[in-house]
Amino acid sequence: MSKAISKDGQPAVGVYICHCGTNIAGTVDVEKLAKEMAGEAGVVVSREYKFMCSDPGQEQIKKDIKEFGLNRVVVAACSPRMHEPTFRRACAQAGLNPFLMLMANIREQCSWVTKDREQATAKAIAIVRATVRRALWMRPLQPGRAKVKPSTLVIGGGIAGIQAALDIAEAGYQVHLVERNQSIGGHMAELDKTFPTLDCSACILTPKMVQVAQHPNIELLTYHEVEEVRGSVGQFKVKVRRKATCVDNAKCTGCGICITKCPVKKVPSEFDEKMAFRPAIYTMFPQAVPNKPVIDRKHCNYFVRGKCGVCEKFCEPGAINMKDQDSIRELEVGTIIVATGYDLVDPGQFKQWGYGRFPEVYTGLEFERLCNAMGPTSGKIVKKNGQAPGVVGILHCIGSRDENYCKHCSRVCCMYSLKFAHLLREKTTARVFEFYIDMRAFGKGYEEFYDRVMHEGTRFVRGKAGQVLVPSEADADAPEGSMIVVAEETTLGKLLRVPVDMIILATAMGPAQGAKQVSEMLRIPRSADGFFAEKHPKLAPTETPTDGVFLAGTCQSPKDIPDTVAHASGAAAAALHFLARGEVEIDPSIALVRPEMCTACGMCVDVCAYQAIEIDPKRNKAVVNTTTCKGCGTCVATCRATAIELQQFTGRQIYHELTGLLGEAW
Ligand SMILES: Cc1cc2nc3c(=O)[nH]c(=O)nc-3n(C[C@H](O)[C@H](O)[C@H](O)COP(=O)(O)OP(=O)(O)OC[C@H]3O[C@@H](n4cnc5c(N)ncnc54)[C@H](O)[C@@H]3O)c2cc1C
Repeated sequence: MSKAISKDGQPAVGVYICHCGTNIAGTVDVEKLAKEMAGEAGVVVSREYKFMCSDPGQEQIKKDIKEFGLNRVVVAACSPRMHEPTFRRACAQAGLNPFLMLMANIREQCSWVTKDREQATAKAIAIVRATVRRALWMRPLQPGRAKVKPSTLVIGGGIAGIQAALDIAEAGYQVHLVERNQSIGGHMAELDKTFPTLDCSACILTPKMVQVAQHPNIELLTYHEVEEVRGSVGQFKVKVRRKATCVDNAKCTGCGICITKCPVKKVPSEFDEKMAFRPAIYTMFPQAVPNKPVIDRKHCNYFVRGKCGVCEKFCEPGAINMKDQDSIRELEVGTIIVATGYDLVDPGQFKQWGYGRFPEVYTGLEFERLCNAMGPTSGKIVKKNGQAPGVVGILHCIGSRDENYCKHCSRVCCMYSLKFAHLLREKTTARVFEFYIDMRAFGKGYEEFYDRVMHEGTRFVRGKAGQVLVPSEADADAPEGSMIVVAEETTLGKLLRVPVDMIILATAMGPAQGAKQVSEMLRIPRSADGFFAEKHPKLAPTETPTDGVFLAGTCQSPKDIPDTVAHASGAAAAALHFLARGEVEIDPSIALVRPEMCTACGMCVDVCAYQAIEIDPKRNKAVVNTTTCKGCGTCVATCRATAIELQQFTGRQIYHELTGLLGEAW
């Protein structure tokens, strides 16, 4: 549907309504919508088409821009997050300033949220009319450019952070790898063997850890934490806290004499899941990188009681420094990769499955340490009384896929439960029962591993364990000291009471402790499950809505090691795009101060979440940092003098948009 060609200087709007297959056209009467828009003031052409984002759709827009001399384009389709760049590019190719193209979201905000065709059509008309009216007041804008610092900050030194750091360093860029513990390695360092190949976890991990430590392009900042992040893509300014270790790594030879001499011996070891003890001066594990001890001030006699200093006395190179203090450093980086990983959800809440009530109930990570040669039992799978278990129950989906705890599937539990069954059969004579809902053996070689474990004699009970009880009269055959796993065998429709003397809980994975603070600091959202949310679940799984900030590994969702490594390499590749380009385009949809109206009251400075506004002391006026401003508009709403305007959302543009939305006369 088209009218006469516009005269010079007159607004000439082209409206393009996308069917999005049946996504929009299934609910909205697109023909009626196109007709209505053709009658709007300033509109010279109004069309509907099956897929506006397709090549023919874009070609039509380009053709119309030239043919009708369009100076505004409105595309009524999906969310601008999906296709704004597509249509901006098409307009630019036809010679129209891309910021004179606006999208009206009639999919997510209209057709997807109702089934009522009449109401949906009425709403779509209001949305598109509002956008057309705003479009009439749009001004051409030019994007800015900013240099990208050729370096990346990686937060978290598990296998995800390690992989991402190595990929970027190998490409020739500087990496600062910040790990809050005193060694890199993350949870993978705690594991014994890895499914499905049963490689020794440390054997495949430690070469990479060493490579990180030795890489000339990687600065390893263990026992550090990120405190503040300012700036934006290309030019992030990051404050990092070095926590006092009381050991000078440059002097320390890693001989370990301080560790053996420390009189405090009974601090529960976090690395061994508190099933063993460590001294107050310690390294996390024998293959730690860096392999230098730290003093745990909360337990060190010198700090708690004010006297000791044995480690200092025995340290020949004089590496102990009790006066060591935390210090802050500022880094400047172009991109940031978040690789903060996961933690198991608190098993203390699983009393019904016996955790904390019975001594022989373990989480998956506790059992990993029990299997490990460097663990509390030197790799012997034994109970607390030193005897091997007779019957072991492995309980799947503890906290996962459960409305009461976490709705999500933790993805790795089925496989590590199978691994445990195999290790139990290999190292003990125990009978093993797996209580499961579904068996999710989705990866390469996983189904084959499942098959192998089945043939090794593990008994699979299809039914989630409901509770763990002390034996009652109903369990006459239960050996003394055993626990009763109660579960419904759903294939037989029978309630089972299985006596066992050891239980392993396949406990749900949740986001790492402190994920909330990281998300606030970096302004990246989290999904309902608490993990960091990616920009797009299918098309941008490593990106975040904050440009230049990427996600790697299990901080985004539960993953096994192969998927973690692949995701981390993806994040590194995405970060490298920015680093290799050397500069970024800055969206011009940002705040602009009208100095003649600014009273320098500073309220905008206080409310800016991005620290993008300062008062210029010479001119006594507010000034916006164009690379840092995100165009959120908080300053605009706060400014009492109406001295700040948001380009692309000026007062006039919004006013006219509202008249369109409310159906007021033009
Ligand atoms: C019991 C169990 C057994 C498993 N067995 C297997 C197996 O056999 N095979 C397999 O493929 N997968 C297995 N997995 C999964 C495997 O553990 C993960 O895929 C892998 O460890 C994820 O690595 P990551 O780097 O994403 O996270 P993590 O290993 O959690 O590493 C994250 C790192 O970030 C650090 N960190 C967190 N927050 C911050 C912060 N704010 N600042 C600085 N540093 C921070 C942490 O200290 C940690 O070092 C198992 C998981 C469990 C629970």
